[in-house]
Amino acid sequence: MKIKNSVSFNVDHSRLKRGIYLSRIDTMKDINTVTLDLRLRVPYKEDIISNKELHTFEHCFATAVRNMTEETDSVAVAYFGPMGCQTGYYLVFNTTESDEHRYFDMFYDILKKSCGYVKGMTEVPAKNELQCGNCYSLGETADAVKAAEELEELVDEMKQLGGFHKYSFIED
Ligand SMILES: [Zn+2]
Repeated sequence: MKIKNSVSFNVDHSRLKRGIYLSRIDTMKDINTVTLDLRLRVPYKEDIISNKELHTFEHCFATAVRNMTEETDSVAVAYFGPMGCQTGYYLVFNTTESDEHRYFDMFYDILKKSCGYVKGMTEVPAKNELQCGNCYSLGETADAVKAAEELEELVDEMKQLGGFHKYSFIED
């Protein structure tokens, strides 16, 4: 059996920069599942994100981005979480919007507002044994604010570029 390569395994990680990448779009009936790669560290050239920061930002940003999309009926957050390689996060949306040209403005707006929301947080959501599987590894809001500021820089840079950051692929 030939194992089908995941799209992310075809990305040339040696040429990856910090940035917001549109990793993939999967379509099923009227729903488009859009995966964004929020790459906050350059692989092998910068230190990986600590477990504490990953976990804390996961709690804070997941809460923020779900809040930011609650009012809209065309987009919903399916998942937000850290990459196993600890160089960034995946943010997955389900949307009925099929015009890919609209994704940039749509996701820019959500990302920007979510960063702002995290920066205003006064406590880390769900930091207790009932709601989290390992709440003692969570840091403070300052850890999430630092990550939100780093992410916002990339979001602003993406806005200036007028599009998502672009992958380089490994040639088959
Ligand atoms: Zn947790």
